[in-house]
Amino acid sequence: MPPSQEFVDTSPKVSDEIKYTTCYMCACRCGIKVHLRDGQLRYIEGNPDHPVNKGVLCAKGSAGIMQHLSPARLSAPLKRVGPRGSGEFVEISWEEALQLATERLSAIRATDPRKLAFFTGRDQSQSLTSYWAAQFGTPNHAAHGGFCSVNMAAAGLYTIGGSFWEFGEPDWEHTRYFMMFGVAEDHDSNPIKMGLGRLKTRENTKYVSVNPVRTGYSAIADEWIGIRPGTDGLFVLALVHELLRTHKIDLDFLLRYTNAAWLVRDEPGHAEDGLFLRDVQGHPLAWDRNSETAQSALSPVPSLSRSPALSGEYELSDGRRGRPAFDLLARRYLAEEYAPNAVAERTGITADTMRRIAAELAHAAFEQQIELDIAWTDWTGRKHNKMIGRPVAMHAMRGISAHSNGFHTCRAIHLLQMLLGSIDCPGGFRYKAPFPRPCPPGPKPSGKPADVKPNRPMPGPPLGFVSGPEDLLIEDDGTPCRIDKGFSWEFPLAAHGLMHMVIHNAWAADPYPIDTLFLYMANMAWNSSMNSAGTIRMLTDKDPATGEYKIPNIIYSDAYASEMVSYADLVLPDTTYLERWDCISLLDRPISSAHGPGDSIRQPVLQPDRDVRPFQEVLIDLGARLGLPAFVKDNGSPRYPGGYTDYMVNHQRLPGIGPLAGWRGVDGDQQGRGEPNPRQLEKYIANGCFWKHDLPANQLYFKHANRDYLNYAHSQGWIPSAQPIIMQLYSEPMQRFRLAAQGHGKLLPPEHLKSRIAEYFDPLPIWYQPLEESATDDQDFPLHAITQRPAAMYHSWGSQNAWLRQIHGFNCLYLHRDLAAELGLVDEDWAFIESHHGQIKAQIRTMTGCQKNTVWTWNAIGKRRGAWNLDPAAAEGEKGFLLNHLISELLPQKNGGRGDRMSNSDPVTGQAAWFDLRVKIRKAEAGEEQSEPQFEPLKAVAGLRSRPGILRFGEKFLPRNSWRRKDKA
Ligand code: SF4
Repeated sequence: MPPSQEFVDTSPKVSDEIKYTTCYMCACRCGIKVHLRDGQLRYIEGNPDHPVNKGVLCAKGSAGIMQHLSPARLSAPLKRVGPRGSGEFVEISWEEALQLATERLSAIRATDPRKLAFFTGRDQSQSLTSYWAAQFGTPNHAAHGGFCSVNMAAAGLYTIGGSFWEFGEPDWEHTRYFMMFGVAEDHDSNPIKMGLGRLKTRENTKYVSVNPVRTGYSAIADEWIGIRPGTDGLFVLALVHELLRTHKIDLDFLLRYTNAAWLVRDEPGHAEDGLFLRDVQGHPLAWDRNSETAQSALSPVPSLSRSPALSGEYELSDGRRGRPAFDLLARRYLAEEYAPNAVAERTGITADTMRRIAAELAHAAFEQQIELDIAWTDWTGRKHNKMIGRPVAMHAMRGISAHSNGFHTCRAIHLLQMLLGSIDCPGGFRYKAPFPRPCPPGPKPSGKPADVKPNRPMPGPPLGFVSGPEDLLIEDDGTPCRIDKGFSWEFPLAAHGLMHMVIHNAWAADPYPIDTLFLYMANMAWNSSMNSAGTIRMLTDKDPATGEYKIPNIIYSDAYASEMVSYADLVLPDTTYLERWDCISLLDRPISSAHGPGDSIRQPVLQPDRDVRPFQEVLIDLGARLGLPAFVKDNGSPRYPGGYTDYMVNHQRLPGIGPLAGWRGVDGDQQGRGEPNPRQLEKYIANGCFWKHDLPANQLYFKHANRDYLNYAHSQGWIPSAQPIIMQLYSEPMQRFRLAAQGHGKLLPPEHLKSRIAEYFDPLPIWYQPLEESATDDQDFPLHAITQRPAAMYHSWGSQNAWLRQIHGFNCLYLHRDLAAELGLVDEDWAFIESHHGQIKAQIRTMTGCQKNTVWTWNAIGKRRGAWNLDPAAAEGEKGFLLNHLISELLPQKNGGRGDRMSNSDPVTGQAAWFDLRVKIRKAEAGEEQSEPQFEPLKAVAGLRSRPGILRFGEKFLPRNSWRRKDKA
């Protein structure tokens, strides 16, 4: 008998176990709940309690299932047996692999530790990797920040003591006017989406997106400003001009929290010209208008007895002369060259628009002031019964940072924020713990000649923050100490190193040859390098005299058969992110929010079914085998025999401070500081794999000058003292380099770099034409070419993922319809795109949402055929392409041009300038519909699983006797 009523289960039980961990499908570190059934991966959902995503999961996050099940997963350690690039490997045991690595690395360490270059990609264990490098004794270490966003980080940390994204965020709850510069769907993915959602559901708010391309977040902006790439700095300084001209600036904020009143010595030609005038204690001086004397600028202002001047020229009793920093600033930006009319043509933004945006910013900041009834105490002890804020927030990322003028552009954005008084106030940009820190923060980079000795750790980390020429890592004759030339006269503020120059410099033995290139998660043979074809040649180039590879030894760790794997000599297979422990630490880039500090872990929710090991475990094991002091006990036995979890719990960087801040102390009742807690990881797991501390209300804002917050930050070891963080409108470290270029001081730049340093080390933000643009002819290469990141993918991991590939199987080159018409191109035509460096062929698509002279494509979708265990005929290889082939790691050579064959990087920080690319386009004649260049398909490396024609997931979970495909029944 049929049932009288049909029952439909609308919420079937999908899993029999749920484990919490942290997503790694992009860099946002959202909390996830992984559903398992019969011990197998079933479903991923967002953790609603997690502070980063509050349950939100994006397309990438849900597709983590296919990341875990990818046929591209490596399955065992590999030793190369054929030529590099042939893909000929044999599987070896872990013991053999680690012995091979140990023998080679031991020999390097015992002779010249610099001959190891250890660089990582977008990994999330940089406090461990950098510590390991320092223990090894090599200065040649960095992660991928020099390729990605060091301009943002360095400009922020030298200017306001924090930076966008990981070290700060908009006050989404209170801001009324939000400006975003150069952000597609890249960093801070879910948090920005959630924030924009909140912003757009409130009345009287406005969101302005400044970006040459209207995709991603720009698509929902209230106003899109399609700026010409590389001119954001001019636009921002025109806004500064307008605010100064109309007297719409927050003088009180400038006096209290910035160095606006500090006197700058004004004696051209003097060895201290442009430095701050200081008293005998070294305190900067300000001019007190009441007493008509110079007084310490560090005493509280304004006070009844003191009234610092912001303009004028003053002579001290000892004869020294100076002007307040603000005076210099106002004189510069009030000049006509920064007026909207003067910059309109270059930026592609009308002068009226610039004037209107400036007026809107001023209106939001000064006419819509926010007052929160929260009492707080500033660093001087003054009590305030309210928190008063200027509700203008800003955010910027790749579109600013990946230009050779990005450092100064980002400083200009921070200058704009300071003039509006909208930093760490209600409605403004807010710091995330452990920031703010002093500008610049410590430590200095290690790696000077005296720091590097055989079989010795370096005294500090390889990356850091320089304050002047004396901190550079250079030999006595001025040559760089680092293989990437970071912290040399070429790139003095290279806070993240220059990963994009490592292979070129190692190949060229410039400044010296290395022995081993050790890479982790860095697909340098393809999308993580500029000049990808040239990079492949360098990886395989041999010295004709010896027949040996010019880069003698390459060790690579990756979870997947990326393009880089084929060029390694030894491959150490990593796990997927669902199979390992990880630590997202306050020592590195934590998950803090403006509401308080936080960190998190990953735990293995599945056990590997392959002979793979988490890279962090391998690094700790190698550290012990090499006898690195921090990784062995006094008797030489491993200090962390339990591997990475042992390290996460028991390592102490400083007394009481370890990788994880939650549940410290023997009983787990301490936060931030405390003895190691053997049950710490259990506590994290019980709490959904994260820890956070909610700051009390009186510490939520004005953290740079908030007595209670500063005391707390000091107690946690985040800042050296509870003194206020003073924002640097005017940067003295920059001026120290400029003085050296003018011939002052003991350390002088080499002759050929003097004018470069004098020009680009301006203590106030400047704008200059991007270097590639200035060295190429506008007529020859009239178009800008940039990339954007799609919402559904992050780097090359995502573009091999079976589900995400269905969203973006290949990429096209997008251009404006009017430009296409001028070039005689229509949708789906094929075209050649040419730069000074090379030529590619791609299919085009037209649109209206982009700046007319800008062409663009999605990032990292094109793949080399055969890589990632994809079908060699897959669309990613056949039709997908990379702009990287057009971008040289070196600047064009042009008579009279700047920087002949210098690195194609920001001259201040060394940030890779891959958004500076200039191209021309012509229609391709009818022919094969295939992108160019094409390379020989890569051979599948040993141990890869067979690749199914269609990768299916989930059928095995269908209930018995329910629908299933007939051919599978
Ligand atoms: S935003 Fe990033 S971390 Fe968050 S769910 Fe998506 S992929 Fe995962």
